[in-house]
Amino acid sequence: MTSSTSNTSPKGTALITGASAGIGAVYADRLARRGYDLILVARNAERLNALASRLQAETGRSVNTIAADLNDKAGLSKIENVLRDDKSITMLVNNAGVGSVASILKGDVDEMEAMIDLNITALTRLTYAVAPGFVSKASGTIINISSAVGIAVELLNGVYSASKSYVLSFGHALQRDLADKGVRIQTVLPAATATEFWDVAGYSSQKEAASTMTAEDLVDAALAGLDQGELVTIPTLQDGNDWTRWEADRRALTPKFANAKAAPRYVVTTNKA
Ligand code: NAP
Repeated sequence: MTSSTSNTSPKGTALITGASAGIGAVYADRLARRGYDLILVARNAERLNALASRLQAETGRSVNTIAADLNDKAGLSKIENVLRDDKSITMLVNNAGVGSVASILKGDVDEMEAMIDLNITALTRLTYAVAPGFVSKASGTIINISSAVGIAVELLNGVYSASKSYVLSFGHALQRDLADKGVRIQTVLPAATATEFWDVAGYSSQKEAASTMTAEDLVDAALAGLDQGELVTIPTLQDGNDWTRWEADRRALTPKFANAKAAPRYVVTTNKA
């Protein structure tokens, strides 16, 4: 861990995973400018340290880095321990994630498992590590980065989309379990954003598409959504009522599932003739 220190921030410390590049690096920049001290996590120590030096110089905030592979049990456990032990932490941004565009017939199942480990398991374990401390202080913010393909599930690789649907569902459950205990939850659903994500996913040309947003615009909009108290923020969705209606329809289904009897359309008709 490298460390640059200044006066402790009254806003506390934000721990950001996947902070060496793309969306995570912009969160680091914006949160430091909002007065947070930072703990930046990713595998590439050199990139993390360069960002930490720049942000510390530009903002005067304390910026620590921890090089850790969240696909590795020891690396993940190190970050879980930091989240449990460092009482200055007031925000967790679960941003590290990888994607793919491979169809199920072309994808390597080991790569898919590694994607699940990072996009789902690491995000879940880090949330479990930080939540009890936030509940005990009745304050704290957890931002989980999902994706528009968590809803538009047919667009990319199915395991990736499903991993992001998990993040969205998990956010709803966190909201139910933690909101009344003083913990803020925000789930962010970026659509295509111009980062190295697309190089890793195997579709670099998406970065140049006219409909692709910059990481700066994405994070600024996501933080505006946080400021407005949104539980789910979809920066590219122009009409917020589209989400409100979808969510209301989903919730309206919930009481309709509880029935001991199957619906009439599933009643087996036997021909006694
Ligand atoms: P990115 O530029 O590729 O950044 C990914 C970050 O995650 C990097 O800092 C990377 O750093 C880190 N990372 C990758 N594997 C890791 C591991 N095993 N352990 C620790 N850190 C790891 O991608 P991005 O677009 O900023 O993605 C950020 C999040 O946004 C992801 O969850 C992604 O699914 C989501 N998202 C992106 C888009 C998009 O179009 N870009 C759209 C929707 C959602 P190191 O390589 O240094 O470890």
